[in-house]
Amino acid sequence: MQSDVIVIGSGIGGLVTATGLAAKGAKVLVLERYLIPGGSAGYFERQGYRFDVGASMIFGFGQNGTTNLLTRALQAVNVSLEAIPDPVQIHYHLPNGLNLKVDKVYEKFLQNLTAYFPNESQGIRRFYDECWKVFHCLNSMDLLSLEEPRYLMRVFFQHPLACLGLVKYLPQNTGDIARRYIKDPELLKFLDMECYCWSVVPADMTPMINAGMVFSDRHYGGVNYPKGGVGQIAQKLVEGLVKAGSQIQYQARVTKIIIENRRAVGVQLANGEIHRAKRIVSNATRWDTFQKLLTQEKFSIGERNWQERYQKSPSFLSLHMGVKAEVLPKHTECHHIVLENWEKMTEPEGTLFVSIPTLLDPDLAPAGHHIIHAFTPHWIDEWKGLSVKEYQVKKEEAAWRMIDRLEKIFPGLNAALDYLEVGTPLTHRRFLGRQDGTYGPIPRRKLRGLLGMPFNRTSIPGLYCVGDSTFPGQGLNAVAFSGFACAHRIAVDLGL
Ligand SMILES: Cc1cc2nc3c(=O)[nH]c(=O)nc-3n(C[C@H](O)[C@H](O)[C@H](O)COP(=O)(O)OP(=O)(O)OC[C@H]3O[C@@H](n4cnc5c(N)ncnc54)[C@H](O)[C@@H]3O)c2cc1C
Repeated sequence: MQSDVIVIGSGIGGLVTATGLAAKGAKVLVLERYLIPGGSAGYFERQGYRFDVGASMIFGFGQNGTTNLLTRALQAVNVSLEAIPDPVQIHYHLPNGLNLKVDKVYEKFLQNLTAYFPNESQGIRRFYDECWKVFHCLNSMDLLSLEEPRYLMRVFFQHPLACLGLVKYLPQNTGDIARRYIKDPELLKFLDMECYCWSVVPADMTPMINAGMVFSDRHYGGVNYPKGGVGQIAQKLVEGLVKAGSQIQYQARVTKIIIENRRAVGVQLANGEIHRAKRIVSNATRWDTFQKLLTQEKFSIGERNWQERYQKSPSFLSLHMGVKAEVLPKHTECHHIVLENWEKMTEPEGTLFVSIPTLLDPDLAPAGHHIIHAFTPHWIDEWKGLSVKEYQVKKEEAAWRMIDRLEKIFPGLNAALDYLEVGTPLTHRRFLGRQDGTYGPIPRRKLRGLLGMPFNRTSIPGLYCVGDSTFPGQGLNAVAFSGFACAHRIAVDLGL
């Protein structure tokens, strides 16, 4: 097949680009280094358990509005997936007894939070109501490429107030807006955690646009879990891609983007194969794209500026556990955040993230069992240069420290363990193909909201980037946004 577009990588960003273009009639070839699609939204199976490798709190899977980009991406290629609604986004277990559930019902959430901070009841409402303003602006328009002037003009004339609203919020960070309404230092720390648990930076460094999306969509489309596991999203997108006449090739590791006359024209694989196309899209991280696949190219000023503004976030230490079902107390929620000391929120092994997807889809584990996926930030440097024995010992010690912390909410966990697999930043790097196993880019210092995040075009003609190192950043719905935008920009460039 002669391809119009080659997409390097089948993460959700890459797949949404590929399916968007295939739906418009382009011939797309997706090249994936691993055995299955999905990247950080993939899965693996062991002893009857189907584990999500990463993401499991899924936004953008609702039925209404325009921000439900995962639902829309599936629809674009005529496939669908059952979504199981989660009544609570997160159960927080935070310092000083702050034990709070974020209910899907907005008023119930405000009530629960206000019960802890009665003096801030007005401020709480005003802050979260302002997040809704951002969301309503986004949710009133088709979300496509901000690099396409005719689309921008059309959207502006159709929704002038929403556009002006977004322009206002684009350079703002969440912490600055929160402090306008809220004074209580403990509540501000809670808002730091509300941001950190998906942006991996505190509120002061989290763009307001992203916070507006997350803090409102959880009460609008809600958090939904795909039946069959998160890996189904990528599987279904691939099904739709192939139905639309395009292709995916697995175990196809791209080692080089071929540049001719200063233009990207093809790629070379590890086995020496060469593929050419009119446009090349990289779904690898920006660091992998510019430092590994384009070693022959000098960094453009734009790229250098980006690397100066953003750094790699840490990776994670992950425990994938199979446990006896009786260890979970009644009314246990699917997602938990655990932190004992505010000072440690951003430190390695500070915040502990927990997902129990079998509470929503029991078929992911053998009867009478649950999956618990627990992970916490860790830097790769700590795991380098160890002997095999040292690595094993370090992994085990870290795993038991995490299990000890979890015992406080799930007493008896240790004894209820049926399966345990520990993944380190080295595991993330190896299986996800992401430099240092990073979760994604985070600002090196406070920036002006989302203004510094690059769109899909790069300084090299014919080459585009998609995924979490492009606007608007990490998370499945965010990379789906990036995929919609990338497909739109390329479709216009190819005249589709
Ligand atoms: C532990 C963890 C938990 C998370 N939890 C959530 C959550 O609850 N909710 C949420 O929304 N988000 C969550 N995320 C974030 C979310 O998963 C990511 O932001 C998103 O999946 C990134 O998608 P992507 O398309 O940018 O790239 P990736 O998922 O990294 O996909 C890139 C793909 O490209 C392939 N590739 C790379 N280099 C090459 C090459 N040279 N040749 C061929 N193929 C290549 C990779 O194998 C991979 O398949 C989590 C992430 C992690 C790690």
